[in-house]
Amino acid sequence: MDTTLREAAADLLLGRTCAGCGRPGPTVCPGCLEWIAAHGPRIVRPRPTPRGLPMTVASMPYTGPVRGLVHRYKEASAWGLGGLLGERLAWSVVTLLHRCVEDGIWRPGPVVLVPAPSRRMAVLRRGSDVTARLASGAAARIGPATGLPVVSVPLVRMRGRTADQAGLDAGEREANLSGSLVLTRRPVAGAVVVPVDDVITTGATLAEMARVLRQGGLRVLGAATVAATPRDPSVSESPGSARPAGGGPP
Ligand SMILES: [Zn+2]
Repeated sequence: MDTTLREAAADLLLGRTCAGCGRPGPTVCPGCLEWIAAHGPRIVRPRPTPRGLPMTVASMPYTGPVRGLVHRYKEASAWGLGGLLGERLAWSVVTLLHRCVEDGIWRPGPVVLVPAPSRRMAVLRRGSDVTARLASGAAARIGPATGLPVVSVPLVRMRGRTADQAGLDAGEREANLSGSLVLTRRPVAGAVVVPVDDVITTGATLAEMARVLRQGGLRVLGAATVAATPRDPSVSESPGSARPAGGGPP
């Protein structure tokens, strides 16, 4: 089914409600938009920190309306939310790039966003690879906003059977992912790579992606996500350590 038609059909069956708070009205109500606008990108660091996790920027906590937005986008094919979520991911990436320039560890150049791989069953169930979709949306925004060549390339895929990460604790996630990801192909020469995902929880996925990419000889500049599971139990934010780039999302 055409995705616009699918969304319209869902609206017809369920009635239109805000994906963030569930109140009747637009897909994202003014109250939830205000909540989102009150949050900007920050460096996040899960505790315990998985070995090899690169500097990671998330644009908002995975709490409040964000849980509902991400859930409806991923599980109800609400692709209309991709604009908002892609913009937030783009803002995280741009903030990371700014920070790397400020720290003198990177001179602006080509960037390849690498979406966290989805399990095959999830892609079939959802009818789309939602993370790859978000990454492409973010790349399409960052290029024009920064003047840099930025593309999204699915460089990492899952090898064979990997259990769903949901419901696993940090140690179990790390063990589940260990050796489960493989590099698929090489990106444009001279580009740095930035693994991206919708939500960082324990950091196991991004750390394993970084390991595989580095093993393939690629330079991992950092990682970026739309949102981060808030501290307690697993993620702590470090305020002031990354100023959001510019005055707002690209
Ligand atoms: Zn709302």
